[in-house]
Amino acid sequence: MIRTFFFFLILSALVVFAAWLSEHPGTVLVTFDEYRLRTSVGFLVVAAALLALALTFLDRIWRYLVAAPHRIALAFQENRRRRGYRALTQGMVAVAAGDSEEAGRQAKRAEGLLHDPPLTMLLSAQAAQLRGDESAAANYFESMLHHPEMAFLGIRGLFMQALREGDNENALRLAQRAYELHPKTPWVVQALFDLQVRAGRWDEAEATLKHATTRKAIPSAEGKRQTAVLLLRQSEIAEGQGRDQEARQLAQQALKLAPGFVPVSARYARLAAKAGETHRAARAIEKAWAKAPHPDLAAIYLEITSTEDALGHLKRIEKLAAFHPNHPESHLAIAEVAIEARIWGDARDHLAAAIAAMPSARAFRRMAELEEAEAGKGRVAEQWRTRAAEAPADNRWVCGHCSAIADSWSRICGNCGGFDGLEWRSPRSGSVERTAAFPRHRTGRSAWFSRENMAVPNR
Ligand SMILES: [Zn+2]
Repeated sequence: MIRTFFFFLILSALVVFAAWLSEHPGTVLVTFDEYRLRTSVGFLVVAAALLALALTFLDRIWRYLVAAPHRIALAFQENRRRRGYRALTQGMVAVAAGDSEEAGRQAKRAEGLLHDPPLTMLLSAQAAQLRGDESAAANYFESMLHHPEMAFLGIRGLFMQALREGDNENALRLAQRAYELHPKTPWVVQALFDLQVRAGRWDEAEATLKHATTRKAIPSAEGKRQTAVLLLRQSEIAEGQGRDQEARQLAQQALKLAPGFVPVSARYARLAAKAGETHRAARAIEKAWAKAPHPDLAAIYLEITSTEDALGHLKRIEKLAAFHPNHPESHLAIAEVAIEARIWGDARDHLAAAIAAMPSARAFRRMAELEEAEAGKGRVAEQWRTRAAEAPADNRWVCGHCSAIADSWSRICGNCGGFDGLEWRSPRSGSVERTAAFPRHRTGRSAWFSRENMAVPNR
């Protein structure tokens, strides 16, 4: 708008000037050597203006030509950069699709086009891993350590390699470095803790757990339970060294953190009974039974009782069962003691109640034993045994990480070395029976361990 206004202003000024010139005709005489040029003032003005225009135009062309090489170089660079990023993207897609050949090709292209190592190193490392070249991948991960912005990814890549190779010592060292960089990242905390436990560095594991719980890097419930498991270990050590009172106090602390956890209740009850505090021991078992009945609790409850006769045992177990009367485990506990006491009617009633609540191999097996004890081997007992064989498997201690089955609870799985993984449940099909004497050595355990390509963050 303003430009148009100025244009018309200048135009009208020119028109006025031209009109004025025509009204005031004059002549200009230029003499040079023997040449003479005579012309009108108007012509001279127009010629000068045209000359100025031509010079400006020539200057523009000259400047354009001088700047051309630089402009061409810039355009070339921009084109390279665009192709580099496209190769990087296509390489990432190829990694996600598991196409090692394409990933390798695109990684090379991106490296050549971008000349930006931090950007292309990760892709190159992943491409190397995809084609199974772990040493090349390790080289890329190592070089990432020299770039602060990539160091964490480099450590992570090397860490996963160490785990896959079963080199737990190196993995622990790398987990420590990762923890220094990102102490709040859950997988880092979990990895460091698990490796410290595996290496038997209990004090360091405890410190890690404490930090992780305060920083909320692991869920509070999980943190409490794992702390309880570590306290159990300290309690065992104290008891082993003859410090029974301290052992009991540690077990009590664990009980506060994990009140429904059978191994903790069982340990505390045993230590309390050992100190002559039978009432407290019984109370701990009763509380645990009310939360989650378990055969180990029933066994300890009978262990700490002063009576030895079968009828006394039956009365005692009935008292315990009353804390969770309709649970199949309560019926089974009474039935088992009743069979020992040879009170067949009670035993049969409770087994029937247990089966009605939840049919289990153990209940059917006890029915068969009852029939055999009462009437000797026969068709009925045989039928119960058949039903036992077909029933869902009994609850066992099953590792949540590797599904191995253990006869008794322990804080470390003998199969995969996972910490606090054993759960009391029916084993799924395909579970492996753990042989304590021949633990299989595996590198993997929980979710972060089993991830295939750990070079990709947040996958
Ligand atoms: Zn396991």
